[in-house]
Amino acid sequence: MMEPSSTQRLAPPKVLSVQALRKQYGATVAVDGISFDVGRKEIVGLLGPNGAGKTTTLNMVLGVLEPTSGSIHIEGVNLAKRRAQALERTNFAAVYAPLPGNLTVTQNLRVFGLIYGVKGLSERIEALLTQYDLQRFRDVKCGVLSSGEQTRVALAKAMLNQPQLLLLDEPTASLDPATARDIRARIRDFAARGSSGVLWTSHNMYEVEEVCDRVLFVSRGKVLLEGDPRKLPHEHGKATLEELFITVAREPLALERI
Ligand code: ATP
Repeated sequence: MMEPSSTQRLAPPKVLSVQALRKQYGATVAVDGISFDVGRKEIVGLLGPNGAGKTTTLNMVLGVLEPTSGSIHIEGVNLAKRRAQALERTNFAAVYAPLPGNLTVTQNLRVFGLIYGVKGLSERIEALLTQYDLQRFRDVKCGVLSSGEQTRVALAKAMLNQPQLLLLDEPTASLDPATARDIRARIRDFAARGSSGVLWTSHNMYEVEEVCDRVLFVSRGKVLLEGDPRKLPHEHGKATLEELFITVAREPLALERI
């Protein structure tokens, strides 16, 4: 019988693996040596007060910002060394990065699909228009859509290249509760169905408890706490995730006492 090769014996790589990541702007340390990973079918929440370093972290994972030091591997591929290959199956949605408002929904999906080199693009667009309930807006310019409709288009765009790693920066900010619930259900469904992982930032603790399998509390560029959002508060003597968040955000050193 043939021996399995060393690659067969190894566990499959994590969707995302971040090691000792750091970003410094002059005297400001935005991200101060953080390490974490995201597994398959896992939704990981990146939480922390304003200015904690969440968006800077996401931007480094997206290859938009160059880290001062540390490493990022996506599906085992080193982002610094094999950038195109690492980013091939990554995608992103955020309210501060809206799609061009003067293009229609279909035009936007076509432009991004061409950029990503999606095969069978017309069929993929039709499937996404149906999946994200966008058929009736297909020829409407994105700029006139409501926030909830724009979020659905942004998610459809983010799914074009069937990402293994999906990065979401406050995807439900500014959405009404019913629309936000719909968006959460779609993202949970996405993670449950395939082999992808999701890294999600949010300031809504209710949402985080509902959606995330694991959370990382970041403050001043460091990961202070990590765990199951439904168990963490009790482990630290707090009634709710929001209470724990407020304690950590106000006074990180208090963690040593709770
Ligand atoms: P928020 O919840 O408000 O979106 P955040 O956790 O995403 O906050 P970042 O945007 O990552 O925080 O910012 C982290 C820190 O780095 C902040 O103190 C910010 O002022 C600083 N920072 C970010 N970008 C730059 C830059 N280009 N030059 C200097 N400082 C920066």
